[in-house]
Amino acid sequence: MPDAVPCWRNLSPGDLSFELPEVCATPVEPAIELAVRAAKSWSRMPMEDRFSCLRKAQEHLAGQKEELARGIALETGKPITEARGELGAVISKFDLTIEDAAAELSRREISGGPHPAWVRQVARGPAAVVGPFNFPLHLANGAIAAHLAAGNPVIFKPSPLAAVVAQSYADLVTPCFPPGVFQLVQGGAAEGRAVCVDPRIRAVCFTGSLPVGRALARELAEDFSKDLALELGGRNPVIVCEDADLDLAARAAADGISLTCGQRCNATSRILVAESLCDRFTEKLSVELKRYRPGDPLRDETTLGPLINDAALRRFEEIANQRAEWITTPRAVAAADGKRGYYVEPGIRLGAARTDVESFVPIADFEVFHDFDDAVALANSSPFGLSAAVFTRDQKLFWRFADELRAGNIYANLPTTFSPSTLPFGGLGWSGNGRPGGRGFVRFCSVEQAIQLGKNTFHC
Ligand code: NAD
Repeated sequence: MPDAVPCWRNLSPGDLSFELPEVCATPVEPAIELAVRAAKSWSRMPMEDRFSCLRKAQEHLAGQKEELARGIALETGKPITEARGELGAVISKFDLTIEDAAAELSRREISGGPHPAWVRQVARGPAAVVGPFNFPLHLANGAIAAHLAAGNPVIFKPSPLAAVVAQSYADLVTPCFPPGVFQLVQGGAAEGRAVCVDPRIRAVCFTGSLPVGRALARELAEDFSKDLALELGGRNPVIVCEDADLDLAARAAADGISLTCGQRCNATSRILVAESLCDRFTEKLSVELKRYRPGDPLRDETTLGPLINDAALRRFEEIANQRAEWITTPRAVAAADGKRGYYVEPGIRLGAARTDVESFVPIADFEVFHDFDDAVALANSSPFGLSAAVFTRDQKLFWRFADELRAGNIYANLPTTFSPSTLPFGGLGWSGNGRPGGRGFVRFCSVEQAIQLGKNTFHC
């Protein structure tokens, strides 16, 4: 008798009376075997033919855009307007990836050496893409499309908290490729780990939390030719300088704190404000935060959906119950729009807190700085380094900040959450390595191979 397969059912975080369909873990070994079998022919297929498969997948997904967006809203609690934005990013990612792949993967002739020479990009082999719950389709899809374009079969292990919408995605994408080229493996940590550490898997793209990313990096340390790309967390500051447009800064800070209920890697969780602005800015920020009221994620008007689950709610309550001075008091609310769910209201705490732990809830710390050096030191005091936003009208000052801030994404007068797919995306320090989350990742999905032809090589 085979071992019992673990199955689970999630509740919709915005409506705890609604149970999503049951999902069961997928056996890992057959999926890896199939991916290995598919690898050679997929990597040798002409690039244009691989692109045709990707375009077909793009078409299938575009045809179900609204259903998929509703699936995300229902399963993760992300407001439907945000979920539609995520689907837009999923669909446009195919065009960007194909464009990147055409540029990055073509053979390049190298002149100036002793022999005729070329550099070409060779597929790595089967790849694992492990996804988080907060952007259940967009982040995984970016890595999936890049690996497929580069000629690597992909096994996608989505978050168990977004397994149903991942299944809908896979149902649309899988038939666009030859057997074994794209596969979905459902499950949790055990299945994720089993796929990633298998030596036949030659690349791992992991988007998720720091502890899991670290554990994977430790386990894979000796297999150094397996590419491990990590997209981890952030502790992202907004810096409000003396000459800032305060309305703009307050609006952007409120957005950065509240979008996806604070469950974004690039969420704003620190607000650093020039001392002289303190009172004026807190007033404006408190007003802006009021735009974010908990509501049913399926309604178009909703700006703030629920947290993902009970564990996230407990983490929120733990922070909210800490002894602290609150500028805006965070609060859990049992129901919104008549539905019971993991709803909360965002909060702002005065003073410094630990910067080496991601909060991943809509609560930010508010600190004042005295001068430029002070602001930089505060911003850089976190070992994470994903995003930082500076609010100033002074271009020179902005560039001084850009030179000093330790972050992969730097913004002038924009929220920390503003990250279009047209740019690379990724962090420094504990926020990860490589750039799997944005433009150009396809480069890392292949390996460079140098080829030289010796004299008289091809005489018969
Ligand atoms: P998580 O780390 O709990 O889980 C992520 C995925 O890893 C899930 O699919 C999970 O099943 C799987 N997993 C768990 N243990 C594993 C193991 N030992 N081996 C392999 N896979 C394993 O993260 P989450 O709660 O789903 O997502 C939130 C986290 O993701 C936050 O820390 C957030 O900052 C981060 N994130 C980062 C980015 C980025 O681009 N930097 C984007 C989105 C989310």
